[in-house]
Amino acid sequence: MDSMAELQAELKRIFGFDQFRTGQEAVVRDALAGRDVLALMPTGGGKSLCFQLPALLQPGVTLVVSPLIALMQDQVRLLQDNDIAASFINSSLNAREVSRRTAALLRGDYKLLYLAPERLLLGEFLDGPLRALAEGRGINAFVIDEAHCVSEWGHDFRREYRQLSLLRRRHPQTPMLAFTATATPRVRTDIVSQLALRNPALHITSFNRPNLFYQVRPKSKHTYGELLTQVRGGGAGIVYCLSRRRVDELALQLQGDGIRVRPYHAGLDAETRRDNQEAFIRDDVQAIVATIAFGMGINKPDVRWVAHYDLPKTLEGYYQESGRAGRDGDAARCTLYFGAADIRTSEFLIQQKVHPDTGEPLGEEQRIARQQLRQVLNYAESTECRRAVQLRYLGENFAAPCAACDNCCEPRTAQDWSTEARQFMSCIARLAQRGQRFGAAQIIDILRGARSERVLSRGHDSLSVYGIGKLRTVDEWRHVARALLHQGLIEETQDGYPVLSLNAQSGQVLRQELIVHIAAPVKPKRTRPASTADARPGGSAAAAPEGSALFECLRALRKRLADEHGLPPYVVFHDATLREMVERRPLTLNQFAELSGVGQAKLARYGERFVAAIGEFSA
Ligand code: ADP
Ligand code: ZN
Repeated sequence: MDSMAELQAELKRIFGFDQFRTGQEAVVRDALAGRDVLALMPTGGGKSLCFQLPALLQPGVTLVVSPLIALMQDQVRLLQDNDIAASFINSSLNAREVSRRTAALLRGDYKLLYLAPERLLLGEFLDGPLRALAEGRGINAFVIDEAHCVSEWGHDFRREYRQLSLLRRRHPQTPMLAFTATATPRVRTDIVSQLALRNPALHITSFNRPNLFYQVRPKSKHTYGELLTQVRGGGAGIVYCLSRRRVDELALQLQGDGIRVRPYHAGLDAETRRDNQEAFIRDDVQAIVATIAFGMGINKPDVRWVAHYDLPKTLEGYYQESGRAGRDGDAARCTLYFGAADIRTSEFLIQQKVHPDTGEPLGEEQRIARQQLRQVLNYAESTECRRAVQLRYLGENFAAPCAACDNCCEPRTAQDWSTEARQFMSCIARLAQRGQRFGAAQIIDILRGARSERVLSRGHDSLSVYGIGKLRTVDEWRHVARALLHQGLIEETQDGYPVLSLNAQSGQVLRQELIVHIAAPVKPKRTRPASTADARPGGSAAAAPEGSALFECLRALRKRLADEHGLPPYVVFHDATLREMVERRPLTLNQFAELSGVGQAKLARYGERFVAAIGEFSA
């Protein structure tokens, strides 16, 4: 199995795909060569195929460690629908079912078996079935999915993952393949050492997601309307909110507007959560309004949009959450709604970080959280390519412009705000002369000539800068303050609370040696109905068959078949395959077999029904 053509033929026969995605083939080859592998691929990169294909092309069984029951079930469903002998063992099964599956494993009935780590590491499993397999039919490889779970530096540390190196000690000859969508170097080195990987073939795929359109929209009284337009534009989507209460409120409001949507957060009981998630996966509802508790365990590849109604806590979090859109490679839209009030909310939440026993502020945690918030604000207020900002944060260089973010598609012009910058800095300087340092709120009050208690009681109304900035609104001044901070023209330090001070750069501005350019805040506007089609790479929106009568008819057929088989619709076929059906109108099984996404098993299982439907439509 070394020629490119042979591997591709297998890819098509088994999975129905015409081509490997970037990086997939190289991983497959190293896995087939029996090497240890560490593969870092973004969500939607197609990690599963990298170990599934080698598993099927080798004689023994491949054991896959996966942290979440929902993920295992989903993957096994997908595999079984492709007629691949796969199964899972985890705590959702009763003892009888576990022994039935263990016996099947030993008989050689499975090519792939998914296991929860605690199950695999159980003494009786290690000494029993595992040893028997190793001595008998052979274990091709141990696959460690979501490998960042071994690292305390990752965002999802699992204690059980730590013991997985036991596998290496017990089965030194068996290759280990580790996969993750977490890119940070610290996590990467942790994976290699914790799993005791042996000179692993390192595969790093770019974390750029070219099919995602990124945009930041100002929060205003039009925001809900904008969101509604987005939702009514169609496609499955997720709205992320910061708190449970906001989730419940927004879900109710959308339901009131006739949208089929369910809430999801940790305050709901387990059954409701599962029901709501399942309804989303099966396309029984269009959208989920959720806290960030939602998303880890779902593989739904056809999420067409992700909207953040509140500020995310970290930029990496934003990358991961928005990255749940468009895993199938089709165009999808990621929107972050952002307003000045959100900064105050986030700042308030950070101030709440106190020690649970003593009530002392957790200084270090607050410091980190503030730094993270700063990065999020940087992203939200930047005029730079959104991808470039995100990828730089993930340690990757991206050459802007990208053609699929708001800043690249509709650049905002920067304006000269030097006068305001000087006024702001002068105020800091005047206070400093009195030996005082304050945060932005006090400075803005002084500039705007506020007659507030905190200004008057300190005699700040006698400063020469008092009232010189009346013409600008509070929000405009906040915008200036943040921009000066981002551009490094002033400093923020902690003095119990954040206070501002001048630095060397400020001097240049004050002496008028440096012009301060600040991008105008984006104005709220009514958006065009957000058709995700216009984010499609290549911009072939006009030719999009979505919405055509045939497409809708095939989509309905897919839903019927999916319900008959108890599967999510995307397991039957991806949208891309339905689109090809509309474009090519296959009328025979041979023609149908050529479609991307149609492999041997799917041809046999669904071919006739779809060909018949297309025939009827074309008659
Ligand atoms: P990840 O775990 O990296 O997010 P998955 O393995 O779940 O990615 O794959 C994401 C989606 O991409 C799945 O729906 C899968 O069927 C699809 N996919 C994977 N490889 C290919 C390919 N070569 N061609 C087309 N679709 C693919
Ligand atoms: Zn861009």
